[in-house]
Amino acid sequence: MKEEIRELISDIKLFLEYQKLSGIELFEISSKKSYFSDSLKIIKKEVLKCTKCRLHQNRKKAVPGEGREDARLVFIGEAPGRDEDIQGKPFVGKAGQLLTKIIEAIDLKREDVYITNIVKCRPPENRNPNEDEIQSCEPYLLRQLRIIKPKIICALGTFAAQALLKTNDPISTLRGRFHLYGNIKLMPTYHPAYLLRYPFKKREAWEDIQLVQKEYNQLII
Ligand code: URA
Ligand code: SF4
Repeated sequence: MKEEIRELISDIKLFLEYQKLSGIELFEISSKKSYFSDSLKIIKKEVLKCTKCRLHQNRKKAVPGEGREDARLVFIGEAPGRDEDIQGKPFVGKAGQLLTKIIEAIDLKREDVYITNIVKCRPPENRNPNEDEIQSCEPYLLRQLRIIKPKIICALGTFAAQALLKTNDPISTLRGRFHLYGNIKLMPTYHPAYLLRYPFKKREAWEDIQLVQKEYNQLII
């Protein structure tokens, strides 16, 4: 019962946050219907034709995300790169192949989880997304999380961790322990692209992922 109340409160918080981000200051009963009949399919359709920020100008394909609608574990990266922009799918390049290996190392498959990014379109030359671009795109992520209701989020890299936790702390101090994102447990860890550049960081990333695995396995029993 306690857990249900906590979930309800978290749900209401996400709802209000979403309303605020959508520019709705007053509680609008009229928007309730579309909000409560939202789905990943609807979000995908909207993202694919979205022009809310300047990142739509240079993209080939927007990358909404992919995976299970009821995933317990969600991976969130920064933004699509070159390969993702071409294919319209998240984490399919070199870093993506490493992420796939990481997921498989904890006895899961990509299809068991949900994978997405903070912003859904590739920034030119893979630059960091700007604050206004993050703000334009954030409602999509909030809606995705509201539908999926994951128990665990793994934030990949400095950028995703900082954007989600609203902090400027470096990933090196954020990683290694769970933080709370609403009622969802959030583990920040190194981005797979960073691990490709600095393989000696893999040991720490593996520690983080093992904590995720332990938490995940406890959900099942
Ligand atoms: N890096 C990211 O942060 N996201 C992707 O989808 C691919 C590479
Ligand atoms: Fe829309 Fe997000 Fe793409 Fe900007 S990055 S155009 S807000 S989908």
